[in-house]
Amino acid sequence: MTSTITAAVMPELEGEFEVAQLTLDDPRAGEVQVRMVATGVCHTDMAVRDGWIPTTFPIVLGHEGAGVIERVGDGVTHLEVGDHVVLTVASCGICVDCLSGNPSFCANSYEQNFAGGRPDGTTSLVDAGGHRVTSHFFGQSAFATYANVPTRSVVKVRTDVPLEVLAPLGCGVQTGAGTVLKVLEPRMDSTLVVFGTGAVGMSAILGARVARVRTIVAVDVVAERLELARELGATHTVNARE
Ligand SMILES: [Zn+2]
Ligand SMILES: [Zn+2]
Repeated sequence: MTSTITAAVMPELEGEFEVAQLTLDDPRAGEVQVRMVATGVCHTDMAVRDGWIPTTFPIVLGHEGAGVIERVGDGVTHLEVGDHVVLTVASCGICVDCLSGNPSFCANSYEQNFAGGRPDGTTSLVDAGGHRVTSHFFGQSAFATYANVPTRSVVKVRTDVPLEVLAPLGCGVQTGAGTVLKVLEPRMDSTLVVFGTGAVGMSAILGARVARVRTIVAVDVVAERLELARELGATHTVNARE
């Protein structure tokens, strides 16, 4: 029982998004089918479009998806229809980094996230002409109304927070906050300088605030961003253009 979905397809390297109807296959064992409610747009979507990270075109990009589970594949026991979920980076679950609790450093990250479909080489999407469209970008290909997603990329969340607020947690927020809280682990008397106050930089500032870092310096070239950085916890701001 395949389904028809709508997706923003990137047809070729450095191309323009095209909204198209695609056919989505059934969720496989270990996957859930998610009705997408919201997704962020991350710079990595554009980096893949422009070939900085090679992939297979045409592709459905998008990797800050959040939505509601509509179907559950075989063997999935900890998630159910109706669960609100945030989607995140795919990881293999069997390499040393995954087994030590660091899936974001997965040794098989490329094939899990960028190689062009599921790690076994299949895709869940075909276009109206029956041609293959790459799915499972970051395990999710979130620029679509529905996606089949491996459960390792799925985090169940509470239902009383709007999904459009939670979606960027899956990449930008955890990248910035995680860098500070999980890797740098600054002390309270540290000084942290954040170069670039986009989603990742702002999240790093928020992480530093959680860690009670005393001096947090935000550097950017956009005055309004620096204003927001101060609101979010930067103690000093530097406009690098000035
Ligand atoms: Zn991203
Ligand atoms: Zn791994």
